[in-house]
This record gives sequence, structure tokens and C-alpha cells, in this order.
Amino acid sequence: MEPIISIKDLKMRYDNFSENILKGINLQVYQGQIIGYIGPNGAGKSTTVKILLGLLDNYEGSIKVFGTDILDDKVEYKRRIGYVPEAADIYDNLTGYEYLTFLGEVYGMELNEVNEKALKLMELFDIEDSYHERISSYSKGMKQKLLIIASMLHNPDILFLDEPISGLDANSVMIFKEILAKLAHDGKTIFYSSHIMEVVEKISDRIVVLNDGKIVADGTFEELKEQSKEGSLQEIFNQLTGFTSHKSIADDFVNIIYGGSDGRE
Ligand code: ADP
Ligand code: MG
Repeated sequence: MEPIISIKDLKMRYDNFSENILKGINLQVYQGQIIGYIGPNGAGKSTTVKILLGLLDNYEGSIKVFGTDILDDKVEYKRRIGYVPEAADIYDNLTGYEYLTFLGEVYGMELNEVNEKALKLMELFDIEDSYHERISSYSKGMKQKLLIIASMLHNPDILFLDEPISGLDANSVMIFKEILAKLAHDGKTIFYSSHIMEVVEKISDRIVVLNDGKIVADGTFEELKEQSKEGSLQEIFNQLTGFTSHKSIADDFVNIIYGGSDGRE
């Protein structure tokens, strides 16, 4: 089977950096998979997602989505993908209605169709009362729900989710996990990027761990557990990324709050 996403030797450096942020990523994703793309803050997860979305083009290497190099088909593939960005406060002045119907129309949907669909989805997430309110008045969790709805309105084949549950309450997270499982079961592909292991560990068919711009593990949760002899994904993650100093950092942090020294001098 052809991979639905193929990343070859991907390297990326931001202009103001001397070092590559991504240092040679190779990854093949197959249709119907839920990929958990995890790693510590600054590892390069969001950068990878933005490149896949065609938002950054000064990278080295090659990216194919739906079998075509994204540089050869910059527009068409975007109709078939959905994106929950990590940080999106650009549309604060629009109402939920304006934002969703605008996006739907960009995707070529009829106004009536988007409106009806958007309102039903807002109802299911229990935020329909704010449909005609400005997004600036939404709480963090409400904005996140709106972004999730926006990413799926046009029934995309691949979803790119960058920290999708930040700000969501526990019940909404449960609904969201079920939605993803159902979509993947129906053949949709989900690229789920996050620094939070909890949900990723439960829903991913395959977990890819990124550390310092490189993939340091790739397998099912069971396989990663087998390799590292650790119990939770958090422990595996700490081992793979070489992070074992949480206790001493926390001790130092609290000591400084108390007016003491961090014991490092
Ligand atoms: P992650 O999503 O894994 O936390 P990012 O991909 O956002 O990591 O960032 C990786 C690195 O690239 C970080 O060191 C970050 O500071 C840097 N970075 C991200 N975006 C930019 C940018 N627009 N310009 C310069 N550096 C950036
Ligand atoms: Mg990020």
C-alpha cells in the first residue's frame, strides 16, 4: 500500500537559527492510522505539521501527501485535509458563525449546508449559544472546540491536530477521543501532535517520538514499552529523551520560591 503521507530526509532551519530544527525526518503514514507525534516542547512537532500543511516552504527533503509532492500540488491537497493549529487567535473579531461559514465556503460548501452542519456540531459540543458571539468572548476551551469543528466541517481525509485538546474539559476530551477513533475506523488518517502523552497513549495505533529534531522511537505503544522496559508512555518518553531530572528541578524551583538557593552554585 502507498503511504498517504511520506516524509523523506526532512530538514528545516529557521532564518534566525544557525542549527537545523528538524534534522532528517523520515516517516511513512498509512491510511486509517492514528499517529501520535510526541516530543518535548521545542522538539519540532509544530514545525513538522506546518511544513506538511504547506505553511513553511524553506525546507530540505521531500513531502508527499496523497502520493503527490506538496510542492507540485499546493492547492488541491488542502481541500482534503483538516488542521487544528496550536495557536490561533487571528479570527477573534469574527463570530463563530462567520468563521465557520467563511471556512466552509473557502472549501466550496454551500452557505446553507455549512451553516446547518456548523450549528449541529456546535450543539453537540454544547457551545451553540455562542454561535453568533464574537470569538474574542469565547473561553479557551470554547475556542478549541470551534477549531476542532472548523477542521472537520469539510469532511477531510487527513486531520492534522496540533495540541488539539488544550483547554478542553474531561468530558469533551472523551467525546473527542471517540470521534477520532470512529474517523480512523472509517479510513480517515489522523496525525496527532502533542507533548501530552495521556491521550496519545490511549488512541494511537502508532507512536512516533521526536526529540531534538530527530525521531528517536517509532512503534505501537506495546512495542515501545517492550523496547524500553518502562510502564507508562511518560516513563518511556523520559527515557528516550534522556530526561530524568524532574525531581531535582522541582526541588530547586520550590527552594527558590522559599528564598533559598537552587543548590547549583
Ligand atoms: P514543538 O511544537 O515540538 O514544541 P516547534 O516546532 O514549535 O516545537 O519549535 C521547534 C523550535 O523551533 C523551537 O526551538 C522554536 O523556538 C523554534 N521556532 C518555532 N517557530 C519558529 C519561528 N517562526 N521562527 C524561529 N524559530 C521558531
Ligand atoms: Mg508545538
